[in-house]
Amino acid sequence: MNRLGTVSLVGAGPGDPGLITVRGRDRLAAADVVIYDDLAGRALLDFCRLECERIYVGKRCGQHAAAQENIIQLLLEHARAGRRVVRLKGGDPFIFGRGGEERAELARAGVPCEVVPGVTAAAAAGAAAGVPLTHREFSSAVVFLTGHENPDKPESSIDWAAYARLRATLCIYMGARRLGGIAEQLMSGGMAFDTPVALVSRASWPDQRVEFFTLAELLTLESGEIAAPALAIIGDVARVPARVAELAAVAVET
Ligand code: SAH
Repeated sequence: MNRLGTVSLVGAGPGDPGLITVRGRDRLAAADVVIYDDLAGRALLDFCRLECERIYVGKRCGQHAAAQENIIQLLLEHARAGRRVVRLKGGDPFIFGRGGEERAELARAGVPCEVVPGVTAAAAAGAAAGVPLTHREFSSAVVFLTGHENPDKPESSIDWAAYARLRATLCIYMGARRLGGIAEQLMSGGMAFDTPVALVSRASWPDQRVEFFTLAELLTLESGEIAAPALAIIGDVARVPARVAELAAVAVET
């Protein structure tokens, strides 16, 4: 009987291949099979050996259960065949990545599994925009939220009004198409209309884009113009880049 293989759930980081961890790259270099999806940059596959099998399981947007079940079956099948399997996932595997479910299924099947963390999109977006997610003057907490749910639905599990009161930095994943509704909910929960927002598309990619808005301006934003994937950073920390630019301008003058 074959020795049981191992599965590494590896965080690929936000897209730039330079932002995977050293351990993640080592696991790719040693892998017999890599199972990857859309947000895990294809360029990372160059770290794999030529004979490494590469299996694409992308499922843009619709994350249906069937696809997820197939992914778990694939992981089990290859691990049971004694292979070193890398499950490469965008950003960090345990942040909106279903890594927790995959980890649990592997444990249930008795397959050894490790998790290699990655640079999550919020960290990359903050770096791209020059927005520190925490700052002694502006915010001492960060919340990672999914904007995938329709914020206008009464059954939404996210209590936007509660987050509006937190005075924390809000990082909205998967919310580019719903920013208007999210802004509306936050404002009716008491968040100031002029709260700054940094909207970062494709952080760390060559075509990354950063734009600044106020919360009220999000109401009129055309979601079609936002290139995916995109992340919104909402909170006073988004004032920092303008301040830093002022300081830099003064430094040039003097
Ligand atoms: N596990 C991933 C998140 C997966 S959810 C992580 O830790 O980053 C997918 C969402 O992540 C996208 O809808 C988008 O909001 C965000 N995202 C991923 N990569 C991004 C990037 N390069 N720039 C901006 N947002 C990104």
